[in-house]
Amino acid sequence: MYFYRGNMSMRKTKIGFDLDGVVIGKPFFVPDFVMEKLVRLKVDHKLTYRYPESKGEQYIRYLSHHPLLRPPIRKNIKLIKELYKSNKYELFVVSSRYSFLDERTKDWFRFYKLRKFFKDIHINMKNEQPHIYKERMIKKLKLEVFIDDDKPLLNYLKKRIKKVDLVYVSDQHKHFSKK
Ligand SMILES: [Mg+2]
Repeated sequence: MYFYRGNMSMRKTKIGFDLDGVVIGKPFFVPDFVMEKLVRLKVDHKLTYRYPESKGEQYIRYLSHHPLLRPPIRKNIKLIKELYKSNKYELFVVSSRYSFLDERTKDWFRFYKLRKFFKDIHINMKNEQPHIYKERMIKKLKLEVFIDDDKPLLNYLKKRIKKVDLVYVSDQHKHFSKK
């Protein structure tokens, strides 16, 4: 079956957003180097991510993802709303949050009423290594732009995915800086 979709200029550009550090702020009371230690196996910026195996640690992570502890990053939310309103983009979330954060993630979008701005929200339900998961999803969703705050991960993607605009965003800076 064929559906008329308008001329080419009507086609929407697909943009993917990482979640933590791009849409959602990190908990303000946890220093960066501790965050880094919790998430990565080594602090030397290698691409090996830790999966919290114990139920205890999963629970601590679950607690630390309470919506009140994870405020939206205002300047990026503003941009997301503008992109959404322009009607020229389809926005996706591709987050490597593990499966035990599924409900927490849904709670967050409900709490801040931000669900409607995204066509789909994907998290890492099979608990793959984050870079493997994101590479797979960017290809699957045919994203044209992907925005993330993880430099080693973007470097990995840059080598593996051509024709996708990879954008590095840092919490410290006011604007997106192109890598
Ligand atoms: Mg991130």
